[in-house]
Formats: sequence, C-alpha cells, structure tokens
Amino acid sequence: MATGFYSDEKCFWHAGGDYALTLPLGGLVQPLAAGGLPESPETKRRLKNLMDVTGLLGELDCRTAPPATRDDLERVHPAHYLDAFKAMSDDQGGEIGHHAPFIRGGYEIACLSAGLALGAVQAVARGELENAYALSRPPGHHCLPDDPNGFCLLNNIAIAIESARAKGLAERFVVLDWDVHHGNGTEAIFYDRDDVLAISLHQENNYPLDSGALDMRGRGAGEGFNINLPMYPGSGHTAYLHAMDRVVTPAIEAFKPDMIIVACGFDAAIFDPLARMLATVETFGALTAHIKATAQRVCAGKLVLVHEGGYSEAYVPFCGHATIATLAGSAIRAPDPLAEAAIKRQPTAEMDAFLRASIDRMASQLGF
Ligand code: ZN
Repeated sequence: MATGFYSDEKCFWHAGGDYALTLPLGGLVQPLAAGGLPESPETKRRLKNLMDVTGLLGELDCRTAPPATRDDLERVHPAHYLDAFKAMSDDQGGEIGHHAPFIRGGYEIACLSAGLALGAVQAVARGELENAYALSRPPGHHCLPDDPNGFCLLNNIAIAIESARAKGLAERFVVLDWDVHHGNGTEAIFYDRDDVLAISLHQENNYPLDSGALDMRGRGAGEGFNINLPMYPGSGHTAYLHAMDRVVTPAIEAFKPDMIIVACGFDAAIFDPLARMLATVETFGALTAHIKATAQRVCAGKLVLVHEGGYSEAYVPFCGHATIATLAGSAIRAPDPLAEAAIKRQPTAEMDAFLRASIDRMASQLGF
C-alpha cells in the first residue's frame, strides 16, 4: 500500500492581507511592508517543489480532497463563528481573532485545508492508504471552536477526527503535536474527552503565552488524556528523541489508539525564526521513524501527518522531505545542505544531560 500525499494548489493562495501593518511597532521605526504574514505559502510550495525535483512525489499516491462541508465544520466549530468567518471572507477578509488574518475567499481555502486532513484520515482509516501526509494550509492546531488564533482559522485535525468518528471509521485517536508551539486549540477541543489523547511537545511559553503547562492534564472524563511537555529553549535532536522515548511512546502504548495523527510543524527546527529549538532535518526523519514504528505496533500502522507551522523558507523543505520520505519508506533522500551548521550548533553533552534530566522529571510527574 502507498503513502498518500494530499495537497491543493489553492491552499497556497491563502494570505494574511496587510497583517504586518497591524503589528504595533511603537511609531519610531518604519512600518513593515504590507503583507508580511510569517505563515507564508513559500515554505510549503518549496517543500512540494523539492519533492518533485528529487522524484519523491512520484513514489506517493498524490491526491486532493473535497473541501470540508458545513456539517464537518459544525462538529467542531459553532455556527456563529462559521457565519462570521464566512461573512468576513465574502466581504474583504480581515483579522478575525488573534493573529488570524485572511483575505477575501479565505473561508473557502480554510475548508479546503481542513478537507485535505479529513480526506487523508478517512483514506487511511478505510485502509486505502498505508499512511498519509496532508499539506494543509492554513494550519489548524491553535484554533479553538470560536477563538481563531496563531494563523489558524479552522482546527483541521479536530474536524478530521470528528468526521471519521461520525462515519464510524475509528473511535480512538492520538494527536501528537510536535509543532514547536503549544497545540492549544486541540487541547481545548478534546480537554474533556477520554477518546482522544492529545500530546503536545512545545517550547515552554512561546506561543500562546501562559499556555501548555505540564499540569494541564484534562478534565472530567478527559482527566489524564491531555499531555503537555513544555521543553526548554535550546532543545535539540537528543532532547526530542528522549521526549519520544520517555513520554510519547509509553503514553501511546498505554492508550491503544485506532489511529495516530501528527500535528506536524517544522518550527522546532534550528533555523526557524519563530522559535528557539535546535532540531535538524535528521531530527524530523528520526521523529517520523519513531512514530511510524509506534503506529505499526499499536494501530496497524495507521498514521496521518498534517502540516502545521514552520517558517524557514530554506529549511522547511528539507525537514519536510526527510519526514515524508521516512513516512513512505522511500530511499530517495534530499541531503541537508545546512547539516554542518546545524550539527555544530547542537547542545553540548553537558547541556543535553541537563535537558534530558528535565524531561525525565516531567515524565515522572506525568507518571511515566
Ligand atoms: Zn508553530
């Protein structure tokens, strides 16, 4: 069976309007140029271009998917939010939340983005594909039911989960969020639930501020089914893999999901402008190998990765290529052109021991 790759040209057309002009800069410095949304199409388009150049795209089952329907959206988002979003989108677009800008027609593009995640999850759940990658854009993991933020307008993964559940395709899901920012939307949506285990590895207190604490474990029936691992800035390859070994894998093995979905951001990468972690191309390949092996042990390999953040136009394509090649078990590789610089800047052995010890402490507080 093949690895699916879901994309849609129109997802590259999403834009943030005059986002940069709305940033408060104090009035003493020249305003930023119009546009300037850090979440740019270039990272994703260049990832797809790289996969085309190396031939990796040719090894995948390349698909698109219909947009998520209003019924799909309403399983997660209230009608009043969807109506407001659609009305603003039909007019001129604008800023609908906190760092959640879009231009005219943004609603339809967001529905396409959610549709890619939904299509990928359903095809894998049905056994049509071994696993899949959805190049969704705009991203989704920050979006609460009626509180869009952090460049996210619809929660793509939550919509995909609820649609698959409504169709009886799967019951229990793990969402592993390795985007460097806290998956606050996913956390909020599933906080009371025991059928979705949400795990977020993130840089401590990056975005959103005061979100993603270790002691946020879920509520009511959901108690224990939300796991946050707020990691120190400067965490690199070794720390990320240690977090997988100490927390992620045992948590997933205990939960026994029907499917694993990764909120796959590449902004924990060393050259990312919006975070301060030190992951490399090799790290993303290793994380993918790790979660793929876990999926094979616990849920017959059912695994879907949905694209989230990642803001280095130079580096995201290579991180994404390693991820998708590993997911597909492909021999085609795109050598990391910045490997030497990335490896030189990894934490010292002493710092790595400190970072590992901090993860060990969090793991024992979580009961692992
Ligand atoms: Zn992010």
